[in-house]
Amino acid sequence: MPAMKELVKGADRYKHFIGGQWVESTVKEWIDVENPATEQVIASVPNGSPDDADRALVAARSAQPAWEAMPPASRGQLLRDLGRLILENRERLARIVVAEQGKPIQEARGEIEGAALYLTYAAEEARRITGDIIPSDMPDEQIWIQRVAHGVVLALTAWNYPAALMCRKIGPALVAGNTVVVKAHEGTPVSAFEIAQLSVQADFPPGVINVVSGTGEGIGAALVRHPIPRLITLTGSVRAGKEIFRNSADDLKLLRLELGGKAPFIVAEDADIPAAVRAAVLSRFENCGQICICNERMYVHKKVAGEFTERFVHAVKTLKVGDPTTLVDVGPKFSKPELEKVERMVDQATQAGAEILTGGGRMRGEEFARGHWFEPTVMSVNDNQMRIMQDEIFGPVVPIMTVGDFDEGLRLANESRYGLSAYVFTKDMRRMMRLVRELKFGEIYVNRPGGDAVHAHHAGIRDSGIGGEDGKYGLDAYFQKKTMYINYA
Ligand code: NAD
Repeated sequence: MPAMKELVKGADRYKHFIGGQWVESTVKEWIDVENPATEQVIASVPNGSPDDADRALVAARSAQPAWEAMPPASRGQLLRDLGRLILENRERLARIVVAEQGKPIQEARGEIEGAALYLTYAAEEARRITGDIIPSDMPDEQIWIQRVAHGVVLALTAWNYPAALMCRKIGPALVAGNTVVVKAHEGTPVSAFEIAQLSVQADFPPGVINVVSGTGEGIGAALVRHPIPRLITLTGSVRAGKEIFRNSADDLKLLRLELGGKAPFIVAEDADIPAAVRAAVLSRFENCGQICICNERMYVHKKVAGEFTERFVHAVKTLKVGDPTTLVDVGPKFSKPELEKVERMVDQATQAGAEILTGGGRMRGEEFARGHWFEPTVMSVNDNQMRIMQDEIFGPVVPIMTVGDFDEGLRLANESRYGLSAYVFTKDMRRMMRLVRELKFGEIYVNRPGGDAVHAHHAGIRDSGIGGEDGKYGLDAYFQKKTMYINYA
């Protein structure tokens, strides 16, 4: 594995980005950022304090009125400029993402392009910030409903897409006239700081974008409890979502919680099997299985289970695992605790009767002596209540279960506390139409792998969260509605 420190040269020690400047934390504590492939420390960032949280939120509040007063098209232009700078820095940012998060370089390039797209899409919406004009019941009176900003938005992001998740939130928040404080996951804060630096180059007014670092229970909780942010948008775990829900109850803050998933992948007897195999592999092993919409459990019709499983296992065995700076299919797990969690889940499943069809343990060999490597793993199970079928794995492991018919697949898919995404392979139009009402998930992919559109809507139900992002509904969440009654008699 090559030394990757040089990839983030000059990025060794960061400060918070508050009010357009790099500022020291009030506490001299640091968090080391580790490369998941090599375990080398690539940077260190402040372990932010409640005082830092306060300074960032105050800076965002001071900048907000002037930002909201700016014509939306001008805000959009700044977002476009930031998007362009992100693309101009695509290779550098992609290498930072690889170094802090571990995904293969070609996927990291895609993430950076996606990050820019979230900003340019938000910019396109600037001229469509419309409201409603409605008739009054009174004479000489006009009523209108206008969308205005909330004020300060707090954005908390997960480690699996550190650059894209930040831009997915700041794009719509900013075009709507809010200012933002971003706290990236403590394991992957570097790309967020680098995007903050680009916002200076793009000429964003100071205080519009602020980025701080630190832990969830430290500065994260302090930001949540602080009275300034009106809207909190989190992408992260169900655990964090519930804590934030509790911690913001006193101030009745608005929440958008994009949480975990446990996507079912249903293969009907009429499915295009090669296409289903390709989609199932991609939707499980991309980003080492660390995507909220990943294929987490499979239900395959008994008539095609033999053929499907054979082809699927064969495809998984050919996946190339290795150095994510090179062209590989699967990189390392993000962290040691994450690796250990996946290992525990696989061990527990085999003890409960699952049969390993390929993989099943840590990667072996000199190449994998450092880093957090797990073999691409497929297992066969026959009990939908097993933990491996119910808990989010978030790793390169997938259980397959054979089902008697399509209805059984649907029923077992719905037996879940999660409700984010689902996959179905069938050519039968009647079955597809049934999914709309009968498959209880927010995002359903039919006859294709995962990957959501920036102008659609990404939202989970049940434990997968409340809220939703992207498209017109995602943008709408960043506005409050104000109703004006104008009497002109
Ligand atoms: P996490 O919940 O540990 O952390 C997410 C962010 O919240 C981090 O910035 C963290 O520091 C912060 N945080 C944690 N506890 C907090 C608290 N009490 N108060 C304030 N902030 C707090 O999640 P993670 O491990 O980074 O992410 C993995 C999870 O994210 C998976 O479950 C995955 O499915 C989910 N995810 C969901 C989506 C989606 O769009 N639904 C997208 C990506 C990831």
